[in-house]
Amino acid sequence: MRGGTRLFKVMMDNVESRGIEVRLETAAERLITDAGRVTGLAAGGNSIEARGGVVLACGGFEASADMQAQYWQEKPVLPGAYLGNTGDGIRMAQAAGADLWHMWHYHGTYGFRHPDADEFPYGIRLHRLPD
Ligand SMILES: Cc1cc2nc3c(=O)[nH]c(=O)nc-3n(C[C@H](O)[C@H](O)[C@H](O)COP(=O)(O)OP(=O)(O)OC[C@H]3O[C@@H](n4cnc5c(N)ncnc54)[C@H](O)[C@@H]3O)c2cc1C
Repeated sequence: MRGGTRLFKVMMDNVESRGIEVRLETAAERLITDAGRVTGLAAGGNSIEARGGVVLACGGFEASADMQAQYWQEKPVLPGAYLGNTGDGIRMAQAAGADLWHMWHYHGTYGFRHPDADEFPYGIRLHRLPD
């Protein structure tokens, strides 16, 4: 079985058995706070109340040219991950008062730019193909 399959089965079983609503194509926009405490999330034009807190799992900022310029020494760096990872969660946490640490470090590798970088704006790794 491919890595991750069991993890996703456990997750889907829990989503179904606990009646958790999944909202696809709904961007998280902002953490809602009350006196410094995170009480909810603004997403897709709605406010969602949080009972125990909000887990931010919006990925990194590898696809944000602005944040690359701000935090990384070498640039530009071509991402190998999802192009929607533009640091939204990091900015939301900052707006709620979070401090940042260790932003300079990333796991990278040598590779190539695709000849048509507009159409295919990813780094192509030498590590293994197909990736
Ligand atoms: C090519 C490659 C190979 C890798 N190989 C390994 C490996 O062998 N072993 C290993 O341990 N790790 C590996 N990694 C790293 C690993 O994949 C990541 O560390 C991990 O996926 C990060 O998980 P995450 O849940 O934090 O974010 P992600 O998996 O990046 O997920 C972030 C999600 O948030 C969504 N999102 C972004 N903004 C918003 C928003 N505003 N609202 C709602 N959703 C949003 C995105 O659509 C995305 O689905 C690899 C990464 C890459 C790119």
